[in-house]
Order: sequence, then structure tokens, then C-alpha cells
Amino acid sequence: MKNNIKLNDIEAAIALYKKNKFSWNIRPVDWHISTPTGELYPLKYIYAIAIGKNPPQFTTNQAKNAMLHLNLPYVSLRFVKENEIALHNDVDASLQDRASRLHRLETASKVPTKRLVIREEYDRNSDVIAEVLDRAKGYCESCNEKAPFNRLRDNRPYLEVHHIVRLADGGDDSVQNAEALCPNCHRQKHFWLTIFKLIEKFQSMQIEHNK
Ligand SMILES: [Zn+2]
Ligand SMILES: [Zn+2]
Repeated sequence: MKNNIKLNDIEAAIALYKKNKFSWNIRPVDWHISTPTGELYPLKYIYAIAIGKNPPQFTTNQAKNAMLHLNLPYVSLRFVKENEIALHNDVDASLQDRASRLHRLETASKVPTKRLVIREEYDRNSDVIAEVLDRAKGYCESCNEKAPFNRLRDNRPYLEVHHIVRLADGGDDSVQNAEALCPNCHRQKHFWLTIFKLIEKFQSMQIEHNK
């Protein structure tokens, strides 16, 4: 096994990968190497070819660290939301067992790993945002309190424009479907949205179950 792989080892591995010169079955994986020309290759398999090991013989983090040393960007194809949920689950698990947690913290890397993420976004209408801010006149449209601070850039009252029915749920990007909120109310709205989603999901599971 090569410990200090170089950029041309990765290039050679990509060439072999393209020619199907490897002996394992490829399964869909989350992490991909991103090349300067914008192509994506599965990190785990490219690294395996480059170091001459089988994929189960190393962890994804080892492969990521090697890419960090080479300054090669890698991306996660999972959605941001899934990563957030995974983090929440890990925090819950970590809270269960302090002894193990402290043990892991002793050897944990203090440098966070970075990732590039591909995500789908909506292009919002700037006129809707401006009109709603104009309508609110510096006061939160939920609690009616004054905006907590002014923006440094232009000294305008800081409010966030929120969609009442989410764009993701088919809501309109319109003045009628938007409200200007203070950061606390905005956070709270999204908190309740999450709770309602969970209740909906639970209820549909119950209905399925009782069929
Ligand atoms: Zn508010
Ligand atoms: Zn919002």
C-alpha cells in the first residue's frame, strides 16, 4: 500500500476506473472527488485503486484526509437536510454515553473536515422581498416587535422574509405568501413546521398501519 499518494496516482486511478479496471462491485456512494473539469468520481473507489487496497480496508475519513493533503475537493451528493439529520442523530447518541464521548474527544481531530455540497435552491423574487420589507416597516409581522438590530451595510432594520407556505410545498413566491419576521419568530416558525411535518408523517404511518 502506498501511504503518500500523489496527484498523478489519483489521475491514474481515475483512468483505470474509467476503463473498468477494478475487481469489486461498485455500489452507490455519497462522497465524490470533483475534478477541475467538473467530473465526479466515487471517492472510495478511486482511492482504493490509487492505494491498491480493497474499499472495506480503509475508512471514508482516511480517503477524505488524503484528498485534503492533495488539495483535491470532494463533494457529498447527499442533501443538506440529510446531513443535518445525521448530525442530530449523532448528537443524541453521543449524549447517551459520556465516557465514550470523552474517550473519542481525546483523539478527535480539531480541524473540521470540509465539504462542497450540491443543493437545489429556489430563485426568489427580489421584488417580493422588498415589498414585504416595505410593508413591515421595521416591525416583525408575527410578534409586532421592532426589528432587533439594524444591518451594518445600510442601517435598514434586520428582518427575514419567510414564505408562509414553503416553496418546497408548492407555495407561491408572492407578497401574499410572505411575511417579514424577526430572527426569533422565524426560527420558531421553522421549528413548528418541522413538528407539523413529523406529526403528518406519523399520522400517515398510522393510516398505513391500520389498513
Ligand atoms: Zn417576531
Ligand atoms: Zn422561513
